[in-house]
Amino acid sequence: MMGGQISGKSGASGSLQPEIEARGLEIFARMNGQKPGVFRNITGRLMDWSMRNEPLKMQLFRFVDVLPTLNSPGEIARHAQEYLGGVTAGLPAPVLWGVRVSPKMPWLAAFAARKGVAQMARTFILARNGIEAVPALRKMRRLPLAFTMDILGETAVSELEAGQYQARYLELIEDLAREAANWPAVKQIDCDERGDIPRVNISVKLSALYSQIHPADPEAAIERISARLRPLLLAARQRGVFINLDMESTALKDVTFEIFKRLLDEPGLRDYPHAGIALQAYLRDSERELEELLGWAKSQNRRITIRLIKGAYWDYETLLARQRGWPLPVFQNKAETDANYEKLARRMLENQRFINCAFATHNVRSAAACIVHAEKLGLPRSSFEFQMLHGMAEPVKLALAGMGYRVRDYCPVGEVLPGMSYLVRRLLENTSNEGFLRATFKELVPPEALLRDPAEAAHAADNDRERHHDNEYGGIMDREHFQNEPLTDFKIADNRRRMQDALQAVRTEFGRKYPLVIGGGEVWTEGEITSINPARPGEVIGRVAKAGRAEADAALHAAGAAFPKWSRTSVEERARVLERAGELLRRERFELAALEVFETGKPWIEGDADVAEAIDFCNFYASEMRRIAACRYAVPGETSIHHYIPRGIAVVIAPWNFPLAILCGMTTAAMVAGNTVIMKPAEQSSVIAWRFMNVLQRAGMPAGVVNYLPGPGEEVGAWLVEHPEVSLIAFTGSRKVGLGIFEAAGRVKPRQKHLKHAVCEMGGKNAMIIDNDADVDEAVPAIVYSAFGYQGQKCSALSRLIVLKDNYDRVLERLIEAARDLKAGRPEEPGTVMGPVIDRAAYDRILDYVELGKQEGRLAFQGQVPEGEGYFIPPVIFTDVSPLARIAREEIFGPVLCVFKAQNLDEALAWANGTEYALTGGFFSRSPGNIERVKAELEAGNVYINRGITGAMVARHPFGGFKMSGTGTKAGGRDYLLHFLLPRVVTENDMRRGFAPEEAGDE
Ligand SMILES: Cc1cc2nc3c(=O)[nH]c(=O)nc-3n(C[C@H](O)[C@H](O)[C@H](O)COP(=O)(O)OP(=O)(O)OC[C@H]3O[C@@H](n4cnc5c(N)ncnc54)[C@H](O)[C@@H]3O)c2cc1C
Repeated sequence: MMGGQISGKSGASGSLQPEIEARGLEIFARMNGQKPGVFRNITGRLMDWSMRNEPLKMQLFRFVDVLPTLNSPGEIARHAQEYLGGVTAGLPAPVLWGVRVSPKMPWLAAFAARKGVAQMARTFILARNGIEAVPALRKMRRLPLAFTMDILGETAVSELEAGQYQARYLELIEDLAREAANWPAVKQIDCDERGDIPRVNISVKLSALYSQIHPADPEAAIERISARLRPLLLAARQRGVFINLDMESTALKDVTFEIFKRLLDEPGLRDYPHAGIALQAYLRDSERELEELLGWAKSQNRRITIRLIKGAYWDYETLLARQRGWPLPVFQNKAETDANYEKLARRMLENQRFINCAFATHNVRSAAACIVHAEKLGLPRSSFEFQMLHGMAEPVKLALAGMGYRVRDYCPVGEVLPGMSYLVRRLLENTSNEGFLRATFKELVPPEALLRDPAEAAHAADNDRERHHDNEYGGIMDREHFQNEPLTDFKIADNRRRMQDALQAVRTEFGRKYPLVIGGGEVWTEGEITSINPARPGEVIGRVAKAGRAEADAALHAAGAAFPKWSRTSVEERARVLERAGELLRRERFELAALEVFETGKPWIEGDADVAEAIDFCNFYASEMRRIAACRYAVPGETSIHHYIPRGIAVVIAPWNFPLAILCGMTTAAMVAGNTVIMKPAEQSSVIAWRFMNVLQRAGMPAGVVNYLPGPGEEVGAWLVEHPEVSLIAFTGSRKVGLGIFEAAGRVKPRQKHLKHAVCEMGGKNAMIIDNDADVDEAVPAIVYSAFGYQGQKCSALSRLIVLKDNYDRVLERLIEAARDLKAGRPEEPGTVMGPVIDRAAYDRILDYVELGKQEGRLAFQGQVPEGEGYFIPPVIFTDVSPLARIAREEIFGPVLCVFKAQNLDEALAWANGTEYALTGGFFSRSPGNIERVKAELEAGNVYINRGITGAMVARHPFGGFKMSGTGTKAGGRDYLLHFLLPRVVTENDMRRGFAPEEAGDE
């Protein structure tokens, strides 16, 4: 059984099934066949259509999502066409007609669509603010329904926004407390079994209170969120208001629990009884969370409120875990969630002395189970409450209120634009195939079926999984095929501890000496490369032997000597060396990432991602070589073997910015193909490169197959590139050096018997276009990370942001605020986003560009430089720059971003394509038509839509560009190894005197 144990065949409620069914039937009887409003009005019709066909549902909800950002009838009509023109099955004739004529009568489409969204907003959103909500609250109290109020708008992208959100909450507390003081008491909702309870109940989402939540640094999040939440709790305490913390995605779960406990333990809040927290029953570890909360409440001898919910982010959590290869945090079967809900509900009720129970569900079965468990424990009706969302399941609310229970309506207030993600979540919830609401009110499933014990179905699902040998990854791990190495999940405390330990361990090695490795032997030289910590240039990471021409000749000799045997070593054996290397990298990943932190100034997450990518290269190229090796064609009487042979000696010249991944990728590609390799790493990252060499040796690579030869590029690199015995050069680095290599490789030298092949990956001047209808909440964090992550020192980094005019001011304003709050500092500190640039030369060069930018444009923003001796450069943003200016055309390789305002997409594309580079490019838009156009027309080797433009993953995003960005090879792609091989065909006539062996067939 995976994750939390739910129950046996009959679950927490098994023996109580008849009573639960009876209570459930009573609720259904009271509902008397009524439907919630949401299933009746325009929203209901929209949901009706969407439930007829999944693709239509997707398109409809996406159209609804983008609508509030569209500010002209023409734009609305165009989007209606683009979203709905192609998926018509399920739409009624008048709507179809409307979509078809919308280009001719845009005002009609705009009127209908705006009316629809306004009504939807009225369905789920109570009002624009607390004061405007008061008349509706008064009405609700007459039913009687209590309320909890939440302010729409979730993730804050800057501290300015987080501060504004806090201010709105303070205002809400004040306004509602003042109003509520005059309301006549309604016993059913204003009292529990112990006496009066607050009339004003407020729900808070913590992600809105801090913009820089970083998985590696929960302490910073706890501190900063607490600083904003504390005044809310103190104000609530003073005004007798209840505060409940909502629970969001798992990224925030531990932080939320910790803040709740720590703040309530503070002297000013220790005796404040009106605070609660949500607990999500769809989480596999929710039972443990409940026990921890309970243990804490007992230890404090206090009573807390727990709002038990199932959880609203099921799809998101499932998709994210699948994309990242992380264990699934949520149950995969709805019945498991339902059964767990009942189990947790019972446990909460049993501990009612410490837990004030709030059951948030619209599901009659779940509610009936809570009621019966409470009755069995002899608890009065007033000792717990039900909570439901505004605009949903009104008949259930009224039935329970009619039975004398306290029912609380969760009422969001705010504007439609920030509320869209909330609205879409509600639409999805109401139309979910698995959901209770759709089954009850739309599909009219008989009550008896809806009231079945979920534990039985959960048990069946569990058996089914065991039969299929699924694992904790929900059956997605398929060892037969390549799988990306999961990134380390730093929100897990143990991973953070391992990283801290690794940083400590790596420190003890500082200053060590490292030899060259030639032909399997260590070679020491007189000269040495001093590799330093760019965050503290006085700190020496290692002293590495420095190769000159003599050592380069020795390496050529060793590689030449090893070639005959290695080139004939079986593909299987070569592939296994790579896989063993991948395994060693995996075992040592924390230490390697820690070394990157010190030697190349990579923040934790960047260092970890680089190691994961190196592991991917080992495994991917091993599997690719096996695939390529098996290639044979046959016709009767003739066999042709189309196979590949290695080219010879390869020189690998690697950069420092992905010190392990790129070095490892080029080297393993060359060696698994049967070439022998001279590996020349960048001087700045030569200690990491030595570690990689050491890994290869331990993985069983024979002597001489790879030779480790750090040395000055101009001397050793140039000598090797020109050498007639070298067959292949794999280079990643600057355009200047790359072009020199490309040219040199083309010159045939005396004694040279072959044409050299050059694989050159060079720079970029990458653009991202932001459309008028783009989701700015999503775009801003992606821009910030793409432009300033690893200090902009990625060839994929964003340096030209082109914003269409309607969105320009909004994007620029939010971008500057978001950049202002980036945490800059020493990369070994968890949570640092911007560390130092690599060395003094880079530092001076980037600052020169900043000075140039001040002449060529307007300095819109320059961040603070952290104190200390490191090579720190703050994020810099320029506007009013000509697309032809030098800072708009030349690769800077630092945290410098130019922002342009384009009148339309034609202009944006012309600017984006207007450089000599074509590496990465991005587009944020919610117009399907524009997205298709950009997919086709943006000149970049890697085009990213609605996401950041860095972070390519092996196999999923083969990486590399064209034009002056490179030779069009794709690292981590299916064609890549072919560049390290020569194709060859052997054809044999199998026919002898008219007889031939039986046809073997193609492989
Ligand atoms: C007052 C209130 C406050 C809320 N606050 C929060 C909050 O802070 N955080 C939050 O996340 N949600 C919150 N919600 C939303 C809540 O999680 C959903 O409304 C709720 O999950 C719907 O559950 P149900 O019992 O009404 O419906 P049901 O239809 O019985 O259950 C639907 C739920 O089942 C789960 N589920 C669906 N498919 C699967 C599957 N294949 N495998 C496993 N489980 C599945 C999901 O959790 C889904 O939401 C709140 C809801 C209310 C009423």
